[in-house]
Amino acid sequence: MVGKMLSYAKDYAGIWVASKTNFTFIRPRRVELGIPTSCNLKCRMCSLWRSPSLLSDLKYGLKYSEVLGLIREVAKWRIPDLVVTGIGETLLSHYALDIVRHAETMGIRCSLVTNGTLIDQDMAMKILSSRLSILTISLDGATAQTHDQIRGVKGTYDKVIKGIQLMNQLRRKNKTNILLTICMTISSFNLHEAVALVDLARDLGVDGISFQPVHLQELKRLSATSYLMDHDEEKSNESDLWIPRDKLMELDSVIDRLVRIKICEGSLIHTPITMLESIKYFFRNPKKFKMNCLTGYAALRIGPFGEVFPCWLYESIGSIRKSGIREIWHSDALTKARKSMKQCQNKCLLGCHFTTGPDELIALIAKKIRSLHYP
Ligand code: SF4
Ligand code: SF4
Repeated sequence: MVGKMLSYAKDYAGIWVASKTNFTFIRPRRVELGIPTSCNLKCRMCSLWRSPSLLSDLKYGLKYSEVLGLIREVAKWRIPDLVVTGIGETLLSHYALDIVRHAETMGIRCSLVTNGTLIDQDMAMKILSSRLSILTISLDGATAQTHDQIRGVKGTYDKVIKGIQLMNQLRRKNKTNILLTICMTISSFNLHEAVALVDLARDLGVDGISFQPVHLQELKRLSATSYLMDHDEEKSNESDLWIPRDKLMELDSVIDRLVRIKICEGSLIHTPITMLESIKYFFRNPKKFKMNCLTGYAALRIGPFGEVFPCWLYESIGSIRKSGIREIWHSDALTKARKSMKQCQNKCLLGCHFTTGPDELIALIAKKIRSLHYP
């Protein structure tokens, strides 16, 4: 725990000093890669499946050889973490797991995010043999009715649950260290099942569960490539996924229960307490919701056509097809974007601002003390 704290303190101090001085003497902590693929679901919050032109143009997206070049650069620059996600379903990409294998071999810790519907015996074995460090599966409800209603395709929940069970069995049998986590996007459709989902996570034997509020403008990033329809944020707030005023008390009570579980069980809920608490304010007044966002100093995001984004909701500031990420990290375009991001007015709680913080430490200490008294 001490090692984790020191490493966190060192990273956070570097990011903080860089943000105060506008001097990027640090390297990114993480690269997030959105590889081009297609999708088998029709999630209510997603614009991708509604945009046939984008889906068809994704075939001109990053090739395996281009991503390998990126991985070599990430390794050479000693960036510790790579998040592999799909613009579409990640596991539909023919090279996602090859990328993971390659990166892990070069000492980069990879997480892969998936909708979890394609994990059969064969896929589970491929995932394990890629030496992936963290597998994150989206699960938006504790019941099939809720999850399938959000994900737009009947039978999705059953496939995801089977996939999680299979991964769990096989990782134990093969004695691999892969972490298995689930992620819930909180919306008006599933708020009532958030606590039940924690119980389900415990029953399924996963290593952790995390929460984020629904972001209706999440795929707006791709409008930088002018493929997607303009996104009207005012309309987004009226969307049926947004938590309405008359459910805000319920939201408070659900978040309070999640915080209590986190304090009692320490490591099961991965979302920091600060972020959980922020979800209450996020849904109340997103227009006034403002964070001191440091993400421009912590990570780089690469889109499906090689575009580099300072965060997923800002426009592209370069391309890995034209320059290396090191050059982009120190570029004037990114320096300018970082300045504007400090004043960001987007309604955003994408979790980019939060890493394990002092509240996590308090929760861990509280758990330790409790275990001494009630072993
Ligand atoms: S949110 Fe992900 S899984 Fe759902 S339709 Fe969009 S790309 Fe597919
Ligand atoms: S708060 Fe603004 S700058 Fe930060 S991640 Fe969200 S959209 Fe990007």
